Amino acid sequence: MEIKWPPQYDRNYRPADNEPYWNRDVETMDPQMREERVILPKLKAQLSYAYENSPFYRRKWEKEGIHPGDIKTLEDFERMPFVTKQEIREDQAAHPPFGSNLCIPPEKIARIQGTSGTTGKPTVFGIGAGDMAGIAEAHARAMWSFGVRPHDIVFIASFFSLYWGSWGALAGTERLGAAGFPFGAGVAGQSDRALDWMKEVKPTVFYGTPSYSLYLAEKARSRGMDPRKDFNFRILFFSGEPGAGVPATKKRIEETYGAICIDSGSTAEMAPWMANCECGHRQGMHFWQDIVYGELVNLETRKRVPYGQEGVTVYTHLERTSQPMIRFLAGDISLWVQDECACGRTYPRLPRGIYGRADDMFVVRGENVYASAIEDVIRSIPGFGDEFRIIITREKTMDEMAVQAERAQDSGPEIEAGIKSDLEARLKAKGLRTVVQMVEPGTLERTEFKAKRIIDKRALYEEATKGA
Ligand SMILES: [Zn+2]
Repeated sequence: MEIKWPPQYDRNYRPADNEPYWNRDVETMDPQMREERVILPKLKAQLSYAYENSPFYRRKWEKEGIHPGDIKTLEDFERMPFVTKQEIREDQAAHPPFGSNLCIPPEKIARIQGTSGTTGKPTVFGIGAGDMAGIAEAHARAMWSFGVRPHDIVFIASFFSLYWGSWGALAGTERLGAAGFPFGAGVAGQSDRALDWMKEVKPTVFYGTPSYSLYLAEKARSRGMDPRKDFNFRILFFSGEPGAGVPATKKRIEETYGAICIDSGSTAEMAPWMANCECGHRQGMHFWQDIVYGELVNLETRKRVPYGQEGVTVYTHLERTSQPMIRFLAGDISLWVQDECACGRTYPRLPRGIYGRADDMFVVRGENVYASAIEDVIRSIPGFGDEFRIIITREKTMDEMAVQAERAQDSGPEIEAGIKSDLEARLKAKGLRTVVQMVEPGTLERTEFKAKRIIDKRALYEEATKGA
């Protein structure tokens, strides 16, 4: 089937407010038919484009003896090698600043974004104007699915710098026709001002990190405000942290604000990152596969795992002309199903969200542990506050884990012994031998961005005992 690629979207198009879908045909299409008629033709076009325009992929695929012309089915596509974050970084170091996968002349770059570089050299994104329009279109579609409409005011409470999250949320908001309120974050005193503006302007939609939304609510209460009554949020949507997909955290945010909590986001490399996103029914993120083709794979075979099983996230752009990612190994763990969602969309769904994020994992006594699993336990026990830390140390040759947690602001110290032993018992039932230390409310550091809750002191221990 011949298609026009990259797709050109009518920027004036918008569904009626009461229409649940932005693009009903493709969102509700029989999945197999969508694979044949929409995804595969777009994929083939994307692969040929990358082969023609990206020295990075040409080298990589020729080394493996694979040519895009060999890819006739999605099963054939499973032969293609993965691309890793590390490879992209190395390529950018060798071909600065954008790498040999830019695919468009540098003068055609419309936007530069990047990663924060907290875990290595930052990755630079150079994005063409057409891709920016495609990202806005995709994000508007996703936001429509969880109920954002043109009459909404979208309060964006995250950094406006290199961070893609804020800009992606704003692009979707503007394309959808809602009012963008790019408030930002990170300036001294800004959280207090956020509360004042949220109270006065009454935005209806919030975007930020889950941690920051809970911090703002706590600050609001300390000023005598009630987040349910003094603000007017219907929808809070999040990316950048696992929280919105952690059941107890989701519940806590929804109860705090009296609004729905939506999980979204893959990774910055994959913008439109909102091609992973929950619908208003909040039964786990959908893979919006006609925008970004998402797979859960077995790392050894490179093949997709069957529905109902757990695999590792791999993503492929289907409409990117600048820095396309083809089988980008994000490396997070999830489980997918292909069943009927109440929203009527026929995309695969991740009913438990992405519960094994590569950036959320640590190893204790040889076992993989996810901070979000501990978060889920803590936040499901009434009496605990929103903040906690996981501290890992090494005593002689054994790893030891401690959890520091605050009790809730509105409860007294008399509950501490009870909730402490409750938490220890529940973590033990998960195979985690942990000492819980209770601390006063407000002791642990709050964040306006992504929380750092894992403090690994083992490296310090090894340093200190070297040569001892
Ligand atoms: Zn749905």
